[in-house]
Amino acid sequence: MQEIYFDILFENATILTMVDDAPVVTGDVGVKAGEITLVGPAPKGAAAGRRIDAKGCILMPGLINAHAHTAMCLLRGYADDYPLQTWLFEKVFPAEGRLDQRAILAGALLGFAEQLCTGTTSISDMYYFQPAVAQLALEAGIRANLCNGVVALSPDWSMEKDRGIQETLALARDFQGAGGGRIRAEAAIHAEYTSGPRVWAQVLELAQAHGLGIQLHLSETEKEHQEAKARHGGKTAARAFYEAGVFDQRITAAHCVWLEPEDMALLAEKGVSAVHCPVSNLKLGSGICDVPALQRAGVNVALGTDGCCSNNTHDLFEEIKLAALLAKGKNLDPSLLPAYAALKMATVNGARAQGRAHLGQIAPGMEADIILLDMDHPTTRPNLDPFGAVVYSATGRSVKLTMVQGRILYENGVFTTIDLEKAYAEAERYALPLVLGGKA
Ligand SMILES: [Zn+2]
Repeated sequence: MQEIYFDILFENATILTMVDDAPVVTGDVGVKAGEITLVGPAPKGAAAGRRIDAKGCILMPGLINAHAHTAMCLLRGYADDYPLQTWLFEKVFPAEGRLDQRAILAGALLGFAEQLCTGTTSISDMYYFQPAVAQLALEAGIRANLCNGVVALSPDWSMEKDRGIQETLALARDFQGAGGGRIRAEAAIHAEYTSGPRVWAQVLELAQAHGLGIQLHLSETEKEHQEAKARHGGKTAARAFYEAGVFDQRITAAHCVWLEPEDMALLAEKGVSAVHCPVSNLKLGSGICDVPALQRAGVNVALGTDGCCSNNTHDLFEEIKLAALLAKGKNLDPSLLPAYAALKMATVNGARAQGRAHLGQIAPGMEADIILLDMDHPTTRPNLDPFGAVVYSATGRSVKLTMVQGRILYENGVFTTIDLEKAYAEAERYALPLVLGGKA
C-alpha cells in the first residue's frame, strides 16, 4: 500500500470550507506540495512533516483583498478627515509624487506583513514600481495580482512615455505566473476621470495582447459619476467603458458606489467583478455601495480595503463585518447579506475577481492558502455559530497562522519571510521623511 504523506497536517479543526454543499466540517486538513490534498479525518497511519493541533481554532481559506494600494500604508494617518478632493489633490498626490522605488518597497513590505498577520493571503494591488513590488511579493511569499494604474491627463500622453504602461509590459514579460502562479500581471485604467477613450483603447489592446485582466476604479463618488455623464453625453462611466469594449476583458472594478440599475446589468452581462470597499467609502464620505442590488443583478461582488490613507488598516475582517451591516442598515432588512454570504465575498468571490479558479475554498485540489483563527479568547467565546463568530466577533488579531501555497508565512506573532523590525525601520526612517516632504 502506498504511504499517505502530508507536508503539513492540521488536526481537529473547525473547518469553514466555503463549499456550499458542506460549508462547515470538523476534522483534519492535509497539505502537500502547495495544495490541499485532504479535508476530513486523516487516514490512520498517515505520515506528516508537521502536525498542527488546531483544536479550538477555525481553519478557513485565506482572505482575498480584491482592491488595495498596499504601499499606501506609509500614509496611514497622513490625511484623516479631509473631503475627497482636498484629500486626493492636496495631500495624497503630492506625497505620492515624492516616493521613490525604495520608499514604495518599504511600504509594500510593511503592507504585506500587515495583511499576512490579519489573514489576507492574496491581494489585487494597484500602485507604482510594480515590477519591483512583484519581486518583493515573490520573496515575501504572498499571492498578488499586480497592476500600475494608468493616469493619462496630459493631451500629449503616449504609451511609450507612460511609466504605468511600461511597468505593465515589464510585469507581463518578467513576472506573469511567477512563483508557481502566485504573481499575476494585470493592466489598469486608474479611472474614467483620469483618462479617456483613446487611452482605454490602447490599454485594452495591451491587455488583450498579453491576456491580462484589468483593474479600475468605477463610480466612487457622486461628483465623479455625474461629471462622467456630462463628459460622455449622458452615458455613465460604466456605459462608456462597456461601449469602448473595456468590459470584454476580465475586470475588477473598485467601489461601484453610484452605479445606476442599467450599469449593474452591464456589469452582470460582462462578468465584471465589483469590489466593495466599505471603510474607505465611509471614511471619505463617498456613500454606500448597494451590494444586495448588485448581487440580485447577478454581479460578482468581492471586498477590498483600498489604500491605508482612507481606511486606515488592511484588516479585511473590518470590511467583512461592515459589508454585512451596511447591507442590512441601508435596506432596513437584517436578513440581507447573512454571515456566510459576507464571508464568501472575501473568499470565493475574491478568487473569482482575481481569475483564480483554485482559490477561496478548503477542498482537495485547491491552493493551500489557509488561515487559522484562535477563537479561545474572551471576544470569541462562546462561539455558537462559526460563521457569525468569524464575521461579527473575530478581527484580524484573531489570526494565529497564515499559509500561502502550503508555506507558513506567519505563526503566533512571528513572520517567516519578513524581518519586521527592518521593515519598520525602512518605512519610518527612509520613506516617512519623503511622505512628509523632507529629504531622505
Ligand atoms: Zn483605490
